[in-house]
Amino acid sequence: MSVTIRFCGAARTVTGSCYLFAMPRGRLLVDCGLFQGPKTLKELNYGKFPFRPDEIDAVLLTHAHIDHSGLIPKLTRGGFRGPVWATRGTIDLCSYLLPDAGSIQESEVSMLNRRNAARGRPEVTPIYTQRDAIAALDAFRPVDYETWIQPMAGVRARYWNAGHLLGSASIEIEFAGAGERGKPLRLLVSGDLGPDAKLLQTDPEAPTGIDYVICESTYGDEDRPAVSNDSRRKTLAAEVRAVQEAGGALLIPAFAVERTQELIVDLVDLMERGAIPAAPIFLDSPLAIRATNVFRQHADSLDPDIPVERLLSSPHLRCTETVDESKAIHKLSGFHIIIAASGMCDAGRIRHHLKRWLWRDNATVLLTGFQAQGTLGRFLIDGAQAVRIQGEPVKVKARIRRIDDYSGHADGPELARWIAARRPIKRGVFLVHGEETALADLSQRIAERTVPAAKIFTPLLDDIYELTTVAPTPLDVSRRRRLAPEAVVNLDWHNDMSALILDINDAVEAAADDRARGVMIRRLRRALEAEN
Ligand SMILES: [Zn+2]
Repeated sequence: MSVTIRFCGAARTVTGSCYLFAMPRGRLLVDCGLFQGPKTLKELNYGKFPFRPDEIDAVLLTHAHIDHSGLIPKLTRGGFRGPVWATRGTIDLCSYLLPDAGSIQESEVSMLNRRNAARGRPEVTPIYTQRDAIAALDAFRPVDYETWIQPMAGVRARYWNAGHLLGSASIEIEFAGAGERGKPLRLLVSGDLGPDAKLLQTDPEAPTGIDYVICESTYGDEDRPAVSNDSRRKTLAAEVRAVQEAGGALLIPAFAVERTQELIVDLVDLMERGAIPAAPIFLDSPLAIRATNVFRQHADSLDPDIPVERLLSSPHLRCTETVDESKAIHKLSGFHIIIAASGMCDAGRIRHHLKRWLWRDNATVLLTGFQAQGTLGRFLIDGAQAVRIQGEPVKVKARIRRIDDYSGHADGPELARWIAARRPIKRGVFLVHGEETALADLSQRIAERTVPAAKIFTPLLDDIYELTTVAPTPLDVSRRRRLAPEAVVNLDWHNDMSALILDINDAVEAAADDRARGVMIRRLRRALEAEN
């Protein structure tokens, strides 16, 4: 019997987790994520899957993040009719995240089509709509941690807590009769792994004695100083007290899921202990409010040492669902706290608050996560003196601060320890979902110490391996690749670079007039000079 794996996503330097397992009796997907990052990759979201959706028997989903779940509605739209197995936490988060992703795609495409129409270019259709996403949710079926399920004949699977996000899992899969001497072939897909001491999450868990481990490598090249709940809260408290003394607003751009809830838990805890002055914490994002409700409902699946449900139900927390409620926050002047999406300030209600507060020197903007190139958050971190929000120039007088103590991912040593704890690993380790340096560093951390170097693989996008042989055997895929291998390896800068030049051309062309073009070019020049 043959079992192959195809890396349809989350391969070397590629985001968007998706693995296809093909056997004579059927096909199984683990994750079906949206590609994020460089334009070349994002274009894959619009292209065909490298398989027929109607031939997939079932999907096993590791967690709700869009780079793992975001193409499920496209799969359903393409004819997939099987079940999507996920933990209850993942299902509840997906029930808000996927429709939200659908509506974001609809509005992005309608914006793009307005530009395309003006230039005589053909219309594009969204990858999927909000309606498609809602329809896809019907396929979701709940699983419990550490309990076997049978997604198809001859295959069973078990979910383990990955400690990365509410409901996140590593998935153990057994293919009956495909291993040594007719035994099952045993495989473990890490999903995204959380750090050891993560707020709200217990440490990741998984079984031992595996034929193949497929492990994420996102921060394989990082070695972070240890952060405890106490040390992180101390840092946060110092920032909050500084804003309170200045008597202005504290704006926290935050990602709707998990980061927002971590911040609320820390802020409320500090207020209850009297470490920071009590003040209203406005949660000003409909998606984050819904995600917070999911966290309250699933509080018993989170870290038992933290009273999550009580802290997230604190009277200090004010949820502003409607636009009118959100606008009412603008009437406040003294010290208060606003948490709003998006985390990188490139969309969402945070932009209204920034417009109101960024030019005042008594306000603080506290960034708590990764800021991608080209986002407003990145401009602020890089020290921009003025920015443009919704077409209007705004001077930056507020203090711009950052805290790096919140992380959803294990670092290099933690990933290496997690892999080591799975031993014996008989046939091989596939390192995926990381940039070149992250993959190389993690590979070095485990080579020889944990598994022989010859058993470590870093597959490229669309690579296929036969897994039933003594060592994984790569198959010839030269004519089945969606991107040339050189293009994939160099994505991190070559394609970024050409995409950037195209984007600059487009943006300058689309500006209102020559004066606006001049301003844009001067700002680009300034950003460039700041790098030198
Ligand atoms: Zn994730």
